[in-house]
Amino acid sequence: MADAKPTGLLEDAVVGAMLPTRGARGRLVRLTHVLDAILAPHNYPPVIEKLLADALALTALLGSLLKDEKGQITMQAQTESGVVDLLVCDYLAGQLRGHVKYDGDRLAEAGPAPTLFQLFGKGYLAITFDQPSRKERYQGIAPIEGEDIGEVAQSYFAQSEQIPSLVRVAAEKRDGHWVAGGLMFQHLPEGEEGRDRLHTKLDHPDWPHVAILAGSVKAGELTDPTLALDALLWRLFHEEDEVRLLASTALTKGCRCSPDYIKSVIARFPPEEQAHMVADDGFIRVDCAFCATSFPIAPAAPGAAPDGATDERGDDAV
Ligand SMILES: [Zn+2]
Repeated sequence: MADAKPTGLLEDAVVGAMLPTRGARGRLVRLTHVLDAILAPHNYPPVIEKLLADALALTALLGSLLKDEKGQITMQAQTESGVVDLLVCDYLAGQLRGHVKYDGDRLAEAGPAPTLFQLFGKGYLAITFDQPSRKERYQGIAPIEGEDIGEVAQSYFAQSEQIPSLVRVAAEKRDGHWVAGGLMFQHLPEGEEGRDRLHTKLDHPDWPHVAILAGSVKAGELTDPTLALDALLWRLFHEEDEVRLLASTALTKGCRCSPDYIKSVIARFPPEEQAHMVADDGFIRVDCAFCATSFPIAPAAPGAAPDGATDERGDDAV
């Protein structure tokens, strides 16, 4: 690898990698400031912060696989009766957001380091890949099992998509700030990024070797804010004949909630119902579940007809 010098891939980025002679591609991600920005408004307990941090690292890894610039990945983990009712993350053009709904009392009972099973019980992870310019939209579903959400994704790729994969995510609070990292390597049968998959041999002789090297990564390396992603790649694969570093994408916090959209939702309620929603300050308060922004909406005047405007958007930002 000629360009092994750290190039500043220390924070809030996801970068691609290729091992051409092994027929494998990879992604490495690190989240620092963007994680603080997403987590801070929610005031989640540490267990939930870590869960969402892991999930956001995974979402960024999956998002970076999209070939469509306007493509979106949505990850939704839910249970019927778990401590965590719902976890949603999404990725659109380098923008990340996410939120968690959970039962605080039951979380406290689960202790400081609950297992994934304690959090989700019998839960499912739905991953939606949406690539509008390619007219592609599909959803994969995987049972939530294993050590962490990275393992759930790994099983999903191996079992549902028949792509041998290794996925690791980790998150840790260091000096009062969350850092998350992740790595994903996948066997590509044709050894070429972007080529349609025709056949995948699950027993490809090169894959176990790649999986062992990639799998040797430690959680502390994924979350080390002083270890650049390309330096980590080099550390794992320096004995390989060829390691290619691909383009990186900067990651930011992004939400698509808008006052106009929220107004249009509120306007569908009759004025009498709107009157019941008004808070002490005279406004209807609507909080965005993702970014926790609070929007004050003026209620309709009594006697006014409800706004008949229909809204075509399926966005669940609020
Ligand atoms: Zn928002």
